[in-house]
Amino acid sequence: MAESMSNDRPSAESAAFGGSCAGGARRPSGAEEGEAAARRPAWGRSSSPTSKETQSLSNSCSGSERKYGRFTLEPHSVPRVETPHRRIVTPLPVPESVPVFEKLLQYEPLSMSGQPPVLWDHAEGAYVFDRFGNKWIDWSSCVLVANAGHSHPRVLEKVRELLDRKQLATYVFAHEERAHLVERLVSIAPRGLDRVFLLTTGSEAVENVIKLLRTWGLRQSPDRKVIVSFSGGFHGRTLGAQLAGGIPPLKAWIGGEDPTFVQVPFPDGYLQTDVSFGVFERSLRDLGVAPRTVAGVLSETYLGIGPDFFPAEYAQELRKWCDVNGALLAFDEVQSGFGRTGRLFAFEHYGVIPDLIACGKGISSSLPLACVIGRSDVLSAYPPGSMTSTHSGSPLAVAAALGSLGAILGERLTERAARLGPRLEQGVASVEWRWRKWIGCTRARGLVGGIRVVKPGTLEPDPELAARVIECAFRKGLLCFAPVGLGGGCIKIAPPLTIPEDALDESLAVLQEAFQEVLG
Ligand code: PMP
Repeated sequence: MAESMSNDRPSAESAAFGGSCAGGARRPSGAEEGEAAARRPAWGRSSSPTSKETQSLSNSCSGSERKYGRFTLEPHSVPRVETPHRRIVTPLPVPESVPVFEKLLQYEPLSMSGQPPVLWDHAEGAYVFDRFGNKWIDWSSCVLVANAGHSHPRVLEKVRELLDRKQLATYVFAHEERAHLVERLVSIAPRGLDRVFLLTTGSEAVENVIKLLRTWGLRQSPDRKVIVSFSGGFHGRTLGAQLAGGIPPLKAWIGGEDPTFVQVPFPDGYLQTDVSFGVFERSLRDLGVAPRTVAGVLSETYLGIGPDFFPAEYAQELRKWCDVNGALLAFDEVQSGFGRTGRLFAFEHYGVIPDLIACGKGISSSLPLACVIGRSDVLSAYPPGSMTSTHSGSPLAVAAALGSLGAILGERLTERAARLGPRLEQGVASVEWRWRKWIGCTRARGLVGGIRVVKPGTLEPDPELAARVIECAFRKGLLCFAPVGLGGGCIKIAPPLTIPEDALDESLAVLQEAFQEVLG
């Protein structure tokens, strides 16, 4: 069954333009970290070609090839694709879209470039469309946001209602939808987690988790302020989130270590082969951290770069350790929450309940909303007005979250992710089996998966190869975000939880084709 994903499936493509993904020498580059590791394009600001010039550019792969991150901005002729799920009918990137990318490169920081050069026009369900007639199956979900599918009718309806009511911003003055949402979130959270603090971004939720952990710790004792987190972890790009993050190059800008933030190895069973809980305790000892100084342990519920899950026993030991040593346990569910892994919250896989949960992304399936859900005694540390944000519970985002939750719960999308999980698991296992020389490991649970592309015979990530596979898939109508993780070699798979079953199968077959064309 697994292998049928690779060879047997007929390609739906007919050669209209000619060309393939295999060609195109890429400049070698060093390992990069982070979600959108971008490279400086080869041309300077002053010498950017005009849009007219752009359209006449050849498929040159010379050193002067213009880039958007790791992806070329040279329009390539690609085979026409026409299936019920995908449609590619222009060269890619679309020549008419290139000036827009050039403008972005001119006026934005370079860090904002780096995704495959599709110019989004709209997105619906599991598909992304440009305005040039192309349609992609979306494996990005806008970086794990669109759990309920893009533009879900319930989300649109709720947002439209507020737009029509002229309810766009309220600061932290009360509004009715906010009350509905926090009540709803408490009703789906584990018993004992009965307060919700609404925020805007995942990083902001993490910052507030850190603040609450330390506030709580310092109230126990002036020494209790250490935050323990995990190597390889990602919690966002703000200061506290990066101090707690476990990818060293991402926090080099901080310019020094903070001894109150320490990281221990994550038991991923890949880079860290000893997955016993003893490693946690030993690592703290080696770092000179006394358990009585730990305010809290913060971890992604699965490590995003894998996705790597804790062994359940490890998570249970960790919960016990926190209880015995008087520390709090916080899970970052920004990426893993709201059905993604086949459970509403991913910590349900472990049979443990944290004290605080940071949420974001899939909570609204669209507009920026995040929150901290947690114990009343921890979340009630601050008096009126002293733990807020201008956009806490912003009405449109709250309305979107009500719509998204309605869809996820009403349409049983969590159960759907659990049911389709084995299919995704088989799909990535089949890719690993065929291309094992270039793949360090694959992981999947529910509707999130990852393929770690490596230099043959090593565990060293190969971000360049991963990007070539992603670029090839992009040209075939399958949209992934740029490779992620330490070293940037992980191809992440995260379709909306509504993806039709045959679109999931088709997209896995496209991935096989992409590997075949790049490596075959
Ligand atoms: N935590 C995790 C686990 C994440 O994956 C992310 C974003 N990828 C964040 C926090 C930060 O969220 P945001 O980008 O919304 O600030």
